Amino acid sequence: MKVLVINCGSSSLKYQVLDMTNEVLECKGLVERIGMDGSVITHEKTGMDKFKLVVPMEDHKAAIGHVLMAIQDENHGVIKSMDEIGAVGHRVVHAGEKYDKSVLITDEVYKALEECIPLAPLHNPPNLLGIDACKQLMPKTPMVAVFDTAFHQTMPPESYIYAIPYEYYEKHGIRRYGFHGTSHKYVAERAADILNVSLDDLKLITCHLGNGASVSAIKRGKCIDTSMGFTPLEGLVMGTRSGDIDPAIVTYMREVENLDQGKANEILNKKSGVLGISGISSDFRDLEEAAADGNERAMLALKVFAHKVRFYIGAYIAEMNGCDAIVFTAGLGENGIDMRDVICNDLGNLGIKIDVVKNKVRGKETIISREDSKIKVILVPTNEELMIARDTYNIVTGKGVK
Ligand code: AMP
Repeated sequence: MKVLVINCGSSSLKYQVLDMTNEVLECKGLVERIGMDGSVITHEKTGMDKFKLVVPMEDHKAAIGHVLMAIQDENHGVIKSMDEIGAVGHRVVHAGEKYDKSVLITDEVYKALEECIPLAPLHNPPNLLGIDACKQLMPKTPMVAVFDTAFHQTMPPESYIYAIPYEYYEKHGIRRYGFHGTSHKYVAERAADILNVSLDDLKLITCHLGNGASVSAIKRGKCIDTSMGFTPLEGLVMGTRSGDIDPAIVTYMREVENLDQGKANEILNKKSGVLGISGISSDFRDLEEAAADGNERAMLALKVFAHKVRFYIGAYIAEMNGCDAIVFTAGLGENGIDMRDVICNDLGNLGIKIDVVKNKVRGKETIISREDSKIKVILVPTNEELMIARDTYNIVTGKGVK
């Protein structure tokens, strides 16, 4: 069976077609500038050159219409007719407390996701637009929703309750939810395979270090804590997000800088993080280059970032009373050789000994700790789309999901 994976943003959309009989990626693509001038689709059939088509796409339905044309294209397509697509898997950001695993999309599920819009006002609406468009264009094809929050629903209350009046949790759902769940789950499963140990027997710390970044503590396959919270703003320092700060800074900053709520939000989400500290870039490659040239603020940004990751690793080792492996993934986690080195450096007393030679690797599943490291350190490239396709396939074929 072939599965179409759709990840809809407000003006962009990523897609892949995977053949789930052997989990092979057949094609992938990106639609950008939906509803704007210069809408463009970039499509790539595995093993062939990319092709780009600039064509007006006024909304998500038009965009998905072009995706369906691209995947059926005579030269660049991977199917002859839409009948070959057995199911569609949608990435949906927020399921609140409603779902702790992926689900078949029914009218009831759709309604539940609409109810979650206040929790993710920027993300859930475009995700739902993608579902609407597919429903109209391929009404008979089953669809599955895979949530960023679902994997973290196993957190115990002491991890997810904020110390604010309890009624705000009851009335408004203000609690920690966590994000990047699909990625944390995928790399945890891969790590168990690489170590050849059942996930049920492992304590893992998974570090998803990309432009957005989060760390999770996974005990016996269940997430027991994660660094992102009510929104993806909490936790690690990120490319442009502040991560943890004293909440009193928000009101103080608004007062002294005369900022309205929207501006304050924008500063914390888009102008902070390593960009805010360095004043140079949110991209770690630029920061490493600037730091190598002696730029002090770039050096500081990298140090603050690493400090926070180490802080969470230490906290999660304490929370789980030990750890078997630390897993690095996402853009920086997979490619940032120096950053992994700095994060893991001088943690020998905790049982973490990185191997500087094995660590010189990018984007490839590798154990990068020394033989005598009690806690293994593993690099695992993430693959959220494969995870979405797997859940989708397992649900529509009745195998079910964990
Ligand atoms: P993601 O959000 O997972 O796509 O990750 C994007 C981040 O990964 C960016 O901040 C990049 O700077 C970082 N990244 C990608 N490649 C490298 C690399 N070779 N060295 C350091 N950082 C990298």
